[in-house]
Amino acid sequence: MRAGTEVRTTCAYCGVGCGVIATPDGKGGAAIKGDTDHPANRGRLCSKGLALGETLGLEGRLLSPRINGRDAGWDEALDLVAARFRKTIAEHGPDAVAFYVSGQLLSEDYYVANKLMKGFIGSANIDSNSRLCMASTVAGHRRAFGTDTVPGVYEDLEEADLVVLVGSNLAWCHPVLYQRIAAAKQARPAMRVVNIDPRRTATCDLADLHLAIDPGADVALFNRLLARIADAGALSAEFSAHVEGLEESLAAARADQGRTGLGEAEIATFLDLWIRTEKVVTVYSQGVNQSTSGTDKVNAILNCHLSTGRIGRPGMGPFSITGQPNAMGGREVGGLANMLACHLDIEDPAHRSLVRSFWDAPTMPEKPGLKAVEMFRAVAEGRIKALWIMGSNPAATLPDADAVRGAIAACDFVVVSDLFATTDTARLADVLLPAAGWGEKDGTVTNSDRTISRQRGFLPLPGSARPDWAILAEVGRRMGWKAAFDYASPAEIFLEYAALSGHAAAQGRDFDISALCGLDRSGYDALAPVRWPVTATRRGGRFFADGAFFTPAGKARMLPVTSRAASGHVDVEAPFVLNTGRIRDQWHTMTRSGRAPRLNRHLAEPFLEIHPDDADRLGIRAAHLVEVESRHGRAILRAMVTDRVSPGQVFAPMHWTAEHAPTGRIDALVAPFTDPISGQPESKACPVALRPYAAT
Ligand code: SF4
Repeated sequence: MRAGTEVRTTCAYCGVGCGVIATPDGKGGAAIKGDTDHPANRGRLCSKGLALGETLGLEGRLLSPRINGRDAGWDEALDLVAARFRKTIAEHGPDAVAFYVSGQLLSEDYYVANKLMKGFIGSANIDSNSRLCMASTVAGHRRAFGTDTVPGVYEDLEEADLVVLVGSNLAWCHPVLYQRIAAAKQARPAMRVVNIDPRRTATCDLADLHLAIDPGADVALFNRLLARIADAGALSAEFSAHVEGLEESLAAARADQGRTGLGEAEIATFLDLWIRTEKVVTVYSQGVNQSTSGTDKVNAILNCHLSTGRIGRPGMGPFSITGQPNAMGGREVGGLANMLACHLDIEDPAHRSLVRSFWDAPTMPEKPGLKAVEMFRAVAEGRIKALWIMGSNPAATLPDADAVRGAIAACDFVVVSDLFATTDTARLADVLLPAAGWGEKDGTVTNSDRTISRQRGFLPLPGSARPDWAILAEVGRRMGWKAAFDYASPAEIFLEYAALSGHAAAQGRDFDISALCGLDRSGYDALAPVRWPVTATRRGGRFFADGAFFTPAGKARMLPVTSRAASGHVDVEAPFVLNTGRIRDQWHTMTRSGRAPRLNRHLAEPFLEIHPDDADRLGIRAAHLVEVESRHGRAILRAMVTDRVSPGQVFAPMHWTAEHAPTGRIDALVAPFTDPISGQPESKACPVALRPYAAT
């Protein structure tokens, strides 16, 4: 791309999916500004997006393949990867191999990875770090709607008279959406915002009411809401014709004795406000999803919207906000162990047959594969013998991270494709493959409101780096499936799954972009942001106001749910509940954001938020070091004494890894408990012990 030419692309970070205009400077850098034409942000960018230009450059980049630490050519590396995967499959079967992919991948990368593993290798052992982000929402959506459908659009957040934020520090984690709500509230002072979160986060600045709920008590609170909706005569008689399970759900809600930790007066204020405000949007993210009862929490929220018919209409509906830039795209092209491409179901024989014949594939697994935590447990037990990790750092970010690190280190054959050789995971690889990064490759991402946007390259590929789709396709060809992986561009891949989506829609699926099948290469290159579905008769919009759902009966399903305690129990040995999460100016394990000096200035080191009463009792002083210990690991963090957390609860950020701060690795402490339905780990409620750190 010529220096000085403006290129429209999409931010590398969160699921808001902001449009970015990058202007390369011809020296490997680029000026960055918000895209005023992009519907997600209309020119706004947050601190992370604005600093994207500081994260470019070749320092530390992996520029050529490496085999056991030595530089190698692509032919040698790819032949080795193909041969070792073929040999493992021949000797131990297809379920002895696995791919662990990432919400950082573009949809085209994801699609090829999914096609290679499910249609040609013949295993469903492909899962994503998105499992840690929103798998509970996927499961909750599918239980209630029949498909993983986000009903609403971002404009609903501005049109609502009441925005309820649940387990979502929007101000730091999805700042542009927070700015949009703040602007709407300023324009319409009658608009109300309720923030439900155990912590008093920056998002509370916008809230009229903060409910400092007990960790994990969301089901109990939304069951209280459902029961009150019925008692107040606010059930929708009209919409009830489109819903199953109301009576059972209501009975479960009335019977739920779960504690919320809230006072009766503040609960009543919230319930009354929700019930009397028709235009209500309930926004939720990781505080709901990252829980052993995450799927039930999602359904408890959906139940309230379904019972009142407040769904799919302007300013109304449940709204899951995804963490990663392409968590949604990965869902759409089947990048999870329990899904097929285009929201088809791996456990449905007709769906399997459709995808198999569309791909002309030799095989297709009949059961879901291993979800993230299970996958690395299988690696530890030697059941997975060849593992390919793409654009992710599971040795630092999965629960019980030290055990995961040990499992990867002991695995027979590990491939890592990434930008850097220095991540905790890349250091464990037998084969390292240099992948193209943001600004260097082309493809599409889908944001939290179903808007598909192009990511466009504006920098030359560094060294011999290649896009992930090209690496995967080359391995597929070298494993013997030349025709199926004969892609020359991401456009060809996009058009293939656009065509598949039309067939899926004929099977009653929601994800339909078949009207984009006719794009030629230049049409794909010029593709403007577009919200799906994109069909001959429909473009974008909301789902479900008409009462038509994707279940076999065509009705939504309300699910009876009952609150449960978190899996880890506090006791005298581990009396504090550790909540983990993000900070404003870092992203995941800082491989990109950590390169920007202005982002590192916000909060420069790992820390632990602790309530003043607890700090006093334990003799922990502000800014002193504190030792945090669980059954799984130990960390040493700087104490931040604050009443933002309640007594008995502590908070620590999840960004620091062995690469940056060996004693600050928080996921080494987190227990590997998962939601029994979604497989999502519980990252918000881990029992820990605290003591002042005394260096020996
Ligand atoms: Fe990027 Fe998210 Fe910030 Fe938008 S809100 S600029 S997508 S990090």
